[in-house]
Amino acid sequence: MELKQAVPACTACGLHKSRTQTVFGVGDEKADWLLVGEAPGAEEDRLGDPFVGQAGKLLDNMLAAIGLDRRTNVYIANVLKCRPPGNRNPEPGEVAKCTPFLLKQIELIQPKLIVAMGRFAAQTLLASDASIASLRGRLHRYAGVPLVVTYHPAYLLRNLPDKAKAWEDLVFARRTMQSLLDTRESASA
Ligand code: SF4
Repeated sequence: MELKQAVPACTACGLHKSRTQTVFGVGDEKADWLLVGEAPGAEEDRLGDPFVGQAGKLLDNMLAAIGLDRRTNVYIANVLKCRPPGNRNPEPGEVAKCTPFLLKQIELIQPKLIVAMGRFAAQTLLASDASIASLRGRLHRYAGVPLVVTYHPAYLLRNLPDKAKAWEDLVFARRTMQSLLDTRESASA
């Protein structure tokens, strides 16, 4: 079954019972940049798109600051495709059931760089239980794809001093992308 049909039909974990709809992802399906968040919130559940509301606005502003737009050369998806009730943290069983969808999205999009936003995205993709603080600031890899870790925009709304660190992470991500593009150009010259 096509992935875009399989996700809305999924009943693999208990979250299907309380969702309004699944939130598959949004953006350019051939993007160089893949941003991965945690799970839909109330607005995302209502509208079917990831990162709407205040956290979405913050993310859009941060993307704009490094010359990116969520509709062009960027794809945004979450670890979980259904909203955990009351915006509670995802449970390990839910993450385990839902992660194959995200991994398939990564396989199809073939991004040049992944930005993991928040603990659940970073820990899931890196199979680690380390903190964001200890994972950010260096380059990781998921299945060979370079991966940068940063804070989730919803966390930044509650912890404004950490916005400066998130900005450092995005600058690091942009620099990494530029060097990936330079390497590709010099290899094809
Ligand atoms: Fe299926 Fe994922 Fe929704 Fe659980 S969260 S029902 S695994 S799509």
